[in-house]
Amino acid sequence: MTKNDISDINALLTKPKQIVIVPHKNPDGDAIGSSLALYHYLKQKEHHVNVIAPNDYPGFLKWIPGEEVIIKHETETEKSDDLINKADIIFTLDFNALHRTGKMEAVLTRASAIKIMIDHHQQPDDYAQYVYSDVAMCSTCEMIYHFIEMLEDVPSINADIATCIYTGIMTDTGSFRFRSTTSTTHRVIADLIDKGANNAEIHNNVYDTNSFNRIQILGCALSNLKSIKAYNTAYITLSQDELNSFNFKKGDTEGVVNYALSLQDVVFAVIFIEHKKENIIKISLRSKGTFDVNKFARLHFNGGGHKNASGGRSELDLKNTVDKFISILPTYNKDLSI
Ligand code: 5GP
Ligand code: MN
Repeated sequence: MTKNDISDINALLTKPKQIVIVPHKNPDGDAIGSSLALYHYLKQKEHHVNVIAPNDYPGFLKWIPGEEVIIKHETETEKSDDLINKADIIFTLDFNALHRTGKMEAVLTRASAIKIMIDHHQQPDDYAQYVYSDVAMCSTCEMIYHFIEMLEDVPSINADIATCIYTGIMTDTGSFRFRSTTSTTHRVIADLIDKGANNAEIHNNVYDTNSFNRIQILGCALSNLKSIKAYNTAYITLSQDELNSFNFKKGDTEGVVNYALSLQDVVFAVIFIEHKKENIIKISLRSKGTFDVNKFARLHFNGGGHKNASGGRSELDLKNTVDKFISILPTYNKDLSI
C-alpha cells in the first residue's frame, strides 16, 4: 500500500460512506476478528457499516464484540446483495481471490463499489482498486492494526477493536508460536493489551470452551492418525459417519491437523474430512520448514493458502483421495527429507 493509496483512502473516509466488509467463506478467527475490528473502527468514524460473511462460523467465535451484527449471505441473500449493490466501499479481508467467498463471488464481481483488499495470502488476484497484501504478515488482524497505524489513528483503537485484533492474531499464529510471529507482532499484542484486550479471557473464550463431542471427535481423529515415515508425513481422516456419531458441529475439527504435525520428525501433515452434503473431501495441509503446502494444494487439490498452512478439496471419495495423496508423495521425496 503506497502513501498515495493511503491518502486516497483517507480522503474517501472523510465523509460518512456506505461500507461493506466481507471475510472469506467458512470464516476463522482472523477473518471474523479483522472484519469486526474494522467494523468497530469505521463505525466510530460515523460510517454506515455492515459485515457480510458468506456463511456461518464456529461457536468458539460467537462472543467476539459485535459478532451479533454479522449478516450471513447464505441465509440472508437478498438483504446482503442489496447492501453490496448499494455500497460505496467494499473491504475484502483475509482472502486473495473472490471465489474464496463462494456464492458471493458474482455479486461482488458486479458491484460498483471501490474495493479494498487487506490480506496476507500468497498470489493475490487483481480485483481491488486498493491492495494491501503482505504475505509475511502473521494475520490479517495484524494488518488491520498497521492499516490504522498508516491512517495515523492508533489512539482510536478502543477495547473492542483491540479484542477483535488480538483474537485473530492469536488464532492465526497458534497462540504466537508459528514462524510468522515477529517481534512486531508481540509489540502490537502488547499495545492491544494496554488498550483493553483481556488476553486471559480471550484465550479462555476460544480454547477452553470445548463441547464433550468435540473432544470425542479429537479422540476419533487421533485414533485414525497414520504416519508415513519414509516421507516424514502424517495424516488423519474423518469420515462423515464418524462425524455424525459425535454430532459434529462447525469448527469441531479446527486445529486437529496440528496434532499430526506435532509428531517428532513430521514436516508435512494433512487432514481429510468427508463432507457428504457437498460431496467433497475438505483437506487441510500444514508443514514445518521449507515444504510448500500452498503449491502442493494448488497443484493437486484445487486449493491454496500459505507456504506452511493451506487448504483444498477433492471430489474423489475418502479412500481414493487418500490413495491419490499417498501416490503423489514420492514425487516430493527430496522436499520432504529432513
Ligand atoms: P484451513 O486448513 O484452516 O481451512 O486453511 C488453511 C489456510 O489455507 C487458510 O489461510 C485458508 O485461508 C487457506 N485455504 C483453505 N482452503 C482453501 C482453498 O480451498 N483455497 C485457497 N486458495 N485457500 C484455502
Ligand atoms: Mn488469516
